[in-house]
Amino acid sequence: MTALSLKNVNKSFGPVHVLKDINLEVEDGEFVVFVGPSGCGKSTLLRVIAGLEDATSGEIHIAGEQVNLTPPSKRGIAMVFQSYALYPHLNVRGNLTLALKQERQSKAVIEERVETASRMLGLEPYLDRYPSELSGGQRQRVAIGRAIVRQPKLFLFDEPLSNLDAALRMNTRIEIANLHRQLSASMIYVTHDQTEAMTLADKIVVLRDGRVEQIGSPMDLYNDPANRFVAGFLGAPS
Ligand code: ADP
Ligand code: MG
Repeated sequence: MTALSLKNVNKSFGPVHVLKDINLEVEDGEFVVFVGPSGCGKSTLLRVIAGLEDATSGEIHIAGEQVNLTPPSKRGIAMVFQSYALYPHLNVRGNLTLALKQERQSKAVIEERVETASRMLGLEPYLDRYPSELSGGQRQRVAIGRAIVRQPKLFLFDEPLSNLDAALRMNTRIEIANLHRQLSASMIYVTHDQTEAMTLADKIVVLRDGRVEQIGSPMDLYNDPANRFVAGFLGAPS
């Protein structure tokens, strides 16, 4: 089954053509990494997939269903932002439960999901704390936990580790790989970090100036880059 399929997706902001004829498939359970220079459209592409922005043209299919007109909360997707985007006035438990309450999930379901996500991410000691009382790494875990409790079919991560220091980045990267294995969900992960891309990805999508430059496994792209641009991004000698 295909988790996500994009067909000739374009996105313009007024006269600025940001995404250009994007075609892409993400299979069930696949870990797909988007790489490309700053400003090439990575975040915009995630926002279009999530429904936070409308595509100007083209089709977006999730689990076989066309979702161009489906609101974000009904797409079966959860997004983790670089800035964490936690609700400052809610404690960790409140951040984890808000979307589930909006979905009118039962108390028992909410409790069970919060418990499972907290255990996976080691958040149990922090459930009563507010975001301002947490470290950057703890905040990022809450942001990931908030995605997990919704049990999405597809996770979108927008440079989730870029605000963490090097040691924490490595730990969290390993943790995300473990979560991917445990949850057997599809994940799309944006990064400009070559190590993250090479170690996490089943499939890498190289974007340049709003276009897909090349798609392939880390080894394919490393051994057989389409051009110097791709080679430069993935660190293969060129
Ligand atoms: P990346 O995440 O790869 O750094 P973005 O998707 O954030 O790139 O941005 C791609 C391009 O789209 C940039 O030129 C940016 O200025 C433009 N852009 C993004 N969002 C908007 C917006 N809401 N209005 C106008 N231009 C935008
Ligand atoms: Mg971005």
